[in-house]
Amino acid sequence: MYDYLIVGAGLFGAVFARQMSDRGARCLVIDSRDHVGGNCYTRNDGGIQVHEYGPHIFHTSSERVWQYMNRWTRFNHYVHRPKVCYRGRIYSFPINLMTLYQLWGVSTPAEAKAALEAARVPIQTPSNLEEWALSQVGEEIYYTFICGYTRKQWHRDPRDLPADIVKRLVIRLTFDDNYFSDRYQGIPVAGYTPIFGALLANIPTETGVDFVSNRSMMESQATKIVYTGSIDDLFGADIGWLEWRNMSFEHEYLLGDFQGVSTMHYTEDSVPFTRICEHKHFAFSHHEHTIITREYPRDWQPGEPRHYPINDETNAELYRRYRDRVDGRRYVLGGRLADYRYYDMHQVVESALVTAAAERHG
Ligand code: FAD
Repeated sequence: MYDYLIVGAGLFGAVFARQMSDRGARCLVIDSRDHVGGNCYTRNDGGIQVHEYGPHIFHTSSERVWQYMNRWTRFNHYVHRPKVCYRGRIYSFPINLMTLYQLWGVSTPAEAKAALEAARVPIQTPSNLEEWALSQVGEEIYYTFICGYTRKQWHRDPRDLPADIVKRLVIRLTFDDNYFSDRYQGIPVAGYTPIFGALLANIPTETGVDFVSNRSMMESQATKIVYTGSIDDLFGADIGWLEWRNMSFEHEYLLGDFQGVSTMHYTEDSVPFTRICEHKHFAFSHHEHTIITREYPRDWQPGEPRHYPINDETNAELYRRYRDRVDGRRYVLGGRLADYRYYDMHQVVESALVTAAAERHG
């Protein structure tokens, strides 16, 4: 009999398992995929680490999380500086003084501020994403960077979306083009997968094992279940599926250097993908071959992996109804799927550390 059956060998499950195992708990980890690592999984393809489920850049301002991760891997000095391609022109991104110079020829913070103020469309009480963006940045920035990209990403007209989807819109009146403003940032030098080998060392781990379809047998193996799968799966979605926005990833093997940068966003509507990632640029490698990945947003269908939760009121209510039915004495829920939240990796690590620390064991 195990103390914990941990469903999911992603970041939450692996960190939780490590912490509890170090405190003497007997843990069994299972995952329905044929590999550990969850969405962070990287595959070594001829020396290039391919981020199989989309590019993952680790960033945090938490000293504790950074120190914790550095126990399991060494990070390189990668800093995320993506670019935008719109109608054949390349722009610096996130929007900074260089972008405004490329758009309008302004070269000082004061000039940029004045140009931005002049571009704003006066809208007293913006009631949707489009109106809010126009009132903040004007038409040219809205159409170049926001409108088409948002429509592709969410498959909705920006006039039908709430403003808070882009309220994190960054506009810097300096030449700082670092996408993240966290204190620490990097990519594991050997990719993400070895981190999971280290976290799960000496902990029994079985891949290719689904919890939901063997639930009663699985439950009988442990005192507590730590579940990091989707909460509706636990109940066969008997009151409906939670909705997700998904990505299809199209990998292509080429020779040479395709785009000279890790990430190029394609913001116009007529291009069906939202970005192209070129994996070797996450690692500063100079291989003769290269692997690029195009990301195509689309609706989620039951049975597929899940990417971005759609956090509207309908889904929030459905989530609450499922949550109320979970037996909290037996089950611990954690991670992005069980919480139905978009989390960055550092948030998942923090949450797994806190959840493990709150467990009474030994
Ligand atoms: P997961 O990694 O999804 O792990 C859950 C595991 O549970 C999966 O392996 C799954 O197979 C398993 N499972 C589910 N149901 C069952 C079942 N019934 N039986 C057995 N196993 C089951 N974060 C960043 O910090 N930086 C980034 O740049 C970044 N980029 C991202 C890009 C994309 C496209 C996406 C979608 C996410 C990105 N993230 C990024 C977020 C990051 O992926 C998550 O924070 C992290 O992977 C969450 O870990 P987790 O353990 O909660 O979930």
